[in-house]
Amino acid sequence: MDRVAIIGCGAYMDSGYGCPGEWRCLKAAALGEGSFEKPSQVVSFVKCQCPGRPLAANVGMAMKLSEIKPDKIYLSTCLANAKPDCPYSNAEEMADILAKKTGIEVVMGTHDYH
Ligand code: SF4
Repeated sequence: MDRVAIIGCGAYMDSGYGCPGEWRCLKAAALGEGSFEKPSQVVSFVKCQCPGRPLAANVGMAMKLSEIKPDKIYLSTCLANAKPDCPYSNAEEMADILAKKTGIEVVMGTHDYH
């Protein structure tokens, strides 16, 4: 079973309703649905916070404090497919930075639930 970290868009999580971090990413990981090839253990869930600069450091801190290096990092669907786009960055750029800083594969999006 893969151990995974998920990163959500904090601006959306703090203002949306009906999911923002409550179940969609977690259900997809638990059942191996959406972008998850198999049921996966979520070992950390990190919220990006505008303007997103400390994100890589926060992911690193979650790995350090939990003492678990995830097999993969997932950018949540609400972050990877944000419409309107994130005003500060874009998901590809974030994924690139995270992959370079952690050496861990970054997957775009988590689920396709509506
Ligand atoms: S910087 Fe972008 S991805 Fe991060 S919380 Fe703000 S809007 Fe969301």
